[in-house]
Amino acid sequence: MAKAAKNNTSKLKFDTINYAPAPESKSSAKIEAQYDLFINGKFEKPSSKKYFDTINPATEEKLSSVADANAADVDKAVKAARTAYDKVWSKMPAKERAKYIYRIARMIQERAREFAVIETLDGGKPIRESRDIDVPLVANHFFYYAGWADKLEYAFPNRSPKSLGVAGQIIPWNFPLLMAAWKIAPALATGNTVVLKPAETTPLTALKLAEIIQESDLPPGVVNIITGAGATGAAIVNHPDINKIAFTGSTEVGKLIQRAVAGTDKKVTLELGGKAANIIFEDAPIDQAVEGIINGIYFNQGHVCCAGSRLFVQESVYKEVMRKLKDRIATLIVGDPMDKNTDVGAINSKQQLETIHKYINIGKKEGLEIFESSCALPKKGFFCRPTLFTNVAQSSRIAQEEIFGPVLAIQTFRTDDEVIEKANNTPFGLSAGVWTDKGSKIFNLTTKLRAGVIWANTYNKFDPTSPFGGYKESGFGREGGLHGLGAYLNV
Ligand code: NAP
Ligand code: MG
Repeated sequence: MAKAAKNNTSKLKFDTINYAPAPESKSSAKIEAQYDLFINGKFEKPSSKKYFDTINPATEEKLSSVADANAADVDKAVKAARTAYDKVWSKMPAKERAKYIYRIARMIQERAREFAVIETLDGGKPIRESRDIDVPLVANHFFYYAGWADKLEYAFPNRSPKSLGVAGQIIPWNFPLLMAAWKIAPALATGNTVVLKPAETTPLTALKLAEIIQESDLPPGVVNIITGAGATGAAIVNHPDINKIAFTGSTEVGKLIQRAVAGTDKKVTLELGGKAANIIFEDAPIDQAVEGIINGIYFNQGHVCCAGSRLFVQESVYKEVMRKLKDRIATLIVGDPMDKNTDVGAINSKQQLETIHKYINIGKKEGLEIFESSCALPKKGFFCRPTLFTNVAQSSRIAQEEIFGPVLAIQTFRTDDEVIEKANNTPFGLSAGVWTDKGSKIFNLTTKLRAGVIWANTYNKFDPTSPFGGYKESGFGREGGLHGLGAYLNV
């Protein structure tokens, strides 16, 4: 009987990796051949006259040309945002502001499919993720902050919260539309105006959002969306008439920004890199924990700042966890992000794939044991097999540096104190996960782990009402929840 059950399991595994293709239709996605800059409520040609391509990383095909904003364009956008702030937005009753934010949320819901498809085409993440996670969270974020707009005096009782003015916002490529929502929604709810720059490789959903903002009749200049590379971001950071910089991206660029604004009166929030510890105790529900590890590092190709990229397993369950983890990795479907069966999509860019390969080679050279899924990879596009390293030392670069890909570093531990020390031994402090049956253990760890977000018996769960942000080199300031309002107010 036991033998038969075992045979069934292995057959089931075989069947699950042979699903028939179930591609999402591209017909809902209307992508223009060329996009200009969204300034003062209109799409305008860049004064640089330059455009750059954005491609689909799963096929390497060009999707569109996008304007490259220079310092003069940034200046134009900031001037539009300043005028809109002075003349319209800061004077508008808060409940009227809220109506616009609600309208944007509703329009995102109405066009959810189009947003999901474009997010997947431009960035490479599986359609299941953009459809079920990113886009619903984006709409929820706008709904949530619309609700706060006319209740700021209740959020900050006995103080008189005042908006800051013009916010310059710079976002990365791993959650392009979600990061735009995290930035724009609280800024508008608190009465600020915005100049936002999406990442070079994933500008399209932010530009689609610009179309919605135009259709929503939001007063011109309240939100300006300009595209470009690092130099465009730097021009925003250095513009003298910006009151607040909100940045999400790498620790390296975060440090540059911190230096650039030193000595100015610009307010700053930085949401930077991470190297999260996912910790499994022997009393954990092991099957759920294995699913949590997979969700934490392999879904979205490990392109998650709070990815559970370090795994700590208590020695007594190490063998069981490793066996189940390797079995599960073998069933992961890697490939076409537009296929609804796909678990692991395309790496966002050639450059990022090279970075990941560089780290895999470092791990091999350090003599770590490597295991990778044996799945076939598509011939075109940027793909990486789910990979894990065992026998990892604390000092290994694989355990210390952010890889931002589907690569897991595994270590073991015996006691609570040992794992707390190991987990905290990193320059980052963004997130962590704890898997155990005991509430007391969860509380012990959450008080001692230096991480902004700690999940217990789950991983990578987001909600607009919950603050998010880091310690140490993962940055400072919080986005989401009531805390996220404070970042855009003088109180
Ligand atoms: P990045 O290279 O730092 O880029 C982030 C954004 O900054 C992009 O729009 C980029 O433009 C722009 N930029 C580049 N150089 C700049 C400069 N000198 N001044 C101003 N802006 C500049 O990061 P990434 O590779 O796109 O994103 C991955 C990183 O983001 C990871 O480290 C990840 O952990 C972090 N992240 C953190 C969070 C969080 O909430 N803590 C969330 C998501 C991601 P280009 O695209 O044109 O280079
Ligand atoms: Mg792209």
